[in-house]
Amino acid sequence: MKKETEKSDLLSRWKNRDKKRQLSISIEKAPMDVNIPLSHGQKRLWILQQLHPKNPFYNYSETYTINGDLNANLLVECLKRIYNDHDILRTTYYVENREVFQKIDNQSEIVISLQDLSSLSSEDSKNQRQKIIETNANTYFELTKSPLIRASLIKTNPTTHILQITLHHIVTDKWSMQIFRKELAGYYKDLSTKNDAPQRRNEIQYTDYAFWQSKNEINIDSLNYWKKKLSGNIPLLNLPSDYTRGLQPTFKGAASYTQTFNKKLSNKLLSLSQALETTPYVLLLSAYYIFLFRYSGQQDILIGSPITNRDQKVLENLIGFFNETVVLRTNISLDMSVKDLVNEVRKNTLEAFENKNVPFDVLVKELKIERSLAVNPFFQVMFLYHSVTENPPFGDNISLTHNWFDTKVSKFDLTLYIAEEKGILSSTFEYASDLFHVSTINRFQAYFLLLLEGIVSNPNQNIGEIPMLPEPEMHFLLNQERERSNVFSGYDGIHNIIEDIYFSNPNRIAVTYRNASITYKELNDKANVLANHLLKSEKKPNELIGLCMDRSIDVIIAMLAILKSGCAYLPIDPEYPEERINYMIADAQVGTIVTQSNYSGLFEKNNIQQVIMNEIPQSNEINNLSLPNTKGANLAYVIYTSGSTGKPKGVPISHKNIIHSTAGRLTFYEENPSAFLLMSSISFDSSKAGIFWTLCTGGNLVIAEKRIEQDMEKIGHLINDLKISHTLMLPSLYSLILDYVDYDTLNNLKTVIVAGETCPIGLCEKHLNNFSGIGLYNEYGPTEATVWCIAHKISINDIKDDSVPIGKPVANAKIYILDENQQLTPIGVPGELYIGGSGLSEGYLNSEDLTQKVFLTNPHNPKERLYRTGDLAKYKNDGNILFLGRVDEQIKIRGYRVELNEIENTIKSYHEKINEAVVIYEETGQNEPLEFNNLSDESIITLLKNMDEKDFNVLMTSIESLSESEKDYLLNQIEV
Ligand code: AMP
Ligand code: MG
Repeated sequence: MKKETEKSDLLSRWKNRDKKRQLSISIEKAPMDVNIPLSHGQKRLWILQQLHPKNPFYNYSETYTINGDLNANLLVECLKRIYNDHDILRTTYYVENREVFQKIDNQSEIVISLQDLSSLSSEDSKNQRQKIIETNANTYFELTKSPLIRASLIKTNPTTHILQITLHHIVTDKWSMQIFRKELAGYYKDLSTKNDAPQRRNEIQYTDYAFWQSKNEINIDSLNYWKKKLSGNIPLLNLPSDYTRGLQPTFKGAASYTQTFNKKLSNKLLSLSQALETTPYVLLLSAYYIFLFRYSGQQDILIGSPITNRDQKVLENLIGFFNETVVLRTNISLDMSVKDLVNEVRKNTLEAFENKNVPFDVLVKELKIERSLAVNPFFQVMFLYHSVTENPPFGDNISLTHNWFDTKVSKFDLTLYIAEEKGILSSTFEYASDLFHVSTINRFQAYFLLLLEGIVSNPNQNIGEIPMLPEPEMHFLLNQERERSNVFSGYDGIHNIIEDIYFSNPNRIAVTYRNASITYKELNDKANVLANHLLKSEKKPNELIGLCMDRSIDVIIAMLAILKSGCAYLPIDPEYPEERINYMIADAQVGTIVTQSNYSGLFEKNNIQQVIMNEIPQSNEINNLSLPNTKGANLAYVIYTSGSTGKPKGVPISHKNIIHSTAGRLTFYEENPSAFLLMSSISFDSSKAGIFWTLCTGGNLVIAEKRIEQDMEKIGHLINDLKISHTLMLPSLYSLILDYVDYDTLNNLKTVIVAGETCPIGLCEKHLNNFSGIGLYNEYGPTEATVWCIAHKISINDIKDDSVPIGKPVANAKIYILDENQQLTPIGVPGELYIGGSGLSEGYLNSEDLTQKVFLTNPHNPKERLYRTGDLAKYKNDGNILFLGRVDEQIKIRGYRVELNEIENTIKSYHEKINEAVVIYEETGQNEPLEFNNLSDESIITLLKNMDEKDFNVLMTSIESLSESEKDYLLNQIEV
């Protein structure tokens, strides 16, 4: 029985095969007096042209140089004959009953313009020629009017002519142009030697093909193949581009230079394709896949590739549009070897070609792909491979060469053309100039070449490991250190630098708060008194002393005193929730705390020694004061910051760290601060910028009152009255200042630094338009790398782009942008930011696990340690770095690092019923750092709404790492 079925299966397959074959050979003349539909391919082009009626993007232009003794009249005659031989060249398109048809317009004549530029100077001739060529290539055709071909013959000197042929793509393709050249040469040769030429007209014409195709049914098996292959989500290939994609493409584009591979590489590629039992097409396509994968980080990649539908002999010599586009979809993974990928691509390509008879527009319709004007359906990139044929002979004294002509159009984001000519391969990229700058494309050429070298050198290696960065770029990326700078190299302790300022300038104002100021002498003396007091009980280097005080001059004195006593300080904001304070004290194993009397209650149950600042006996002179010597590696301070576990973690900073970080400022900034307005609390690492930069260079550190941002006018007065030269704050705060503060009060400023979160373009614009004399700087850096590591002076040029860069590494900082494989990402490719250099903390306090997760050995230099930031970034072409966001869900609320899952977990644990609590956040607007715009689950909203205030506060209090004010803020953002 089984045999029987097998047999009948075979039989039916055999029969079908036969039928198929018959179908494919049976193109006959279409009946007279019927409406001739468009072929599938033509329909597609027709629709595209209707969508963009005045866009010449489907113009097809070729230019040839004819050298020798050309008989121009004869050439014109040849063009006319070709025009008459191929009905398609005389065809126009019309719509009837909402359907589009084509008909031959026998009245029409080919338009040939003849120009003689031979009497012009060579410069003029060149310019003129270029103008003619560009105009021809870029003047759009109307498909309702014939002819859809224009020819132009330009005589540039007695023995050189340029022939340019421009057609609408709907009547031609690459193959057709080969026929065109062959027939042109054939006619010319015959007519010039024999005065006569045999008929070259084909019996079957394009209209016959189009009619025949319309009667052909779509093969169901093939359609099913595509339905399966193109099922699921069709991803948009997001190549990192220089400019953001517009709502509608303009199809403006350009072609890169053509990069010809050397003989050795060409040979190796051709023989590797043989060794892998495939074609050069498949091998080079695989290389393109690797390139796109490495460049986009996407795994599911679709590439379009044109193929010809001229399966029948009768179509071989016919001009017309026979292209079909196949979609080649391949899934790529990092652990594939080149060989694996080539096998996969070969399989996909074979299958796609076997099923190519389903036209592209049928696919789009059948698969219900949503059409969008912004992007092409299925794919955004193209691949073309062609073998260059020799130009046909025109006769003894004449030769024709074919020049590549850049029509300044790109129908896709990126197209790779591979050409093979006499065993030598070359690559050319055509690119959308709305997306890419030419310098990026030139780098693509270099990456691609290197990738090919890697592929031929070892086809067994993993595709993620093939080097793709040329030596100069690699060098650039590995040596991202502006300069080493340590103007403070003679110092081991940061406080020693401040002591030297006291020695040289004792009477300068050091610190100001409200109406009070102290000089460097007073600062030093008072700090000595406190240090002396602290040293009454035994202190060890690296011992941590808590510092919990309101903003005041005293807080700076205390800070300096702790450093002088050889210890490190742990700033504790008195506004922190009690739980958090207790946690920090326990975690950091703090034994002593410097505080003020009104906060002493906070620490009573902690069993630690309290030093009450306002109760210390004041003595002006201290005799025989002996302070310990500090080493660079000793701890200076610890900052607690948020972390992915939900528990804040301590970041220890050594004297060496903060000295290097501060020294870098003296090289980067044009001026040191004469008066610095300190906006943030000393429990933020950003406060260290102002504190140490100012005190180490003899400036006046002006401490802003708490919540001064609620009184904008006050800020203006402060800046004006105290002649503030420098300040640093969150961009969102600076934005408010620019919105509300009287600009006249800001004129003393020399330097405004924004840091801690993304700096919006609008802010820069506003600043630059109003304060051309005040430098605006963007600083980037996590606490773990001591305040800053990348910085940028914002200029007019920056605001032409979509976002302002964070800039380049500052002195003593090393920056790497690495991909998932910890390989360097090329310029323009997003990756994660890793930081090295002398600002790097040793790792989290008492948390080996967490430390190991993010403090790593540099894979490119085993001697170096790196901190993995969780920030996404990329290099711009000019070497500046752009910040792109986070890899995780960390957000910033008023400068505080907050993990969203921290909030989520708290909500979850607070109420058992809520399992699916998801906090959705959205960074919106230019000024608002964050807005909780909705809580997706209806039930959470109801729950929050029905919660009384006390419950709600309990909920919010239990959210770690938020102070009362931050919680208030959060509360206000949630609309309940
Ligand atoms: P912190 O440790 O509190 O200083 O926070 C460091 C984090 O703030 C970084 O990892 C970034 O996510 C973010 N950040 C700091 N500076 C900038 C900046 N200039 N632009 C954008 N994000 C920034
Ligand atoms: Mg910071």
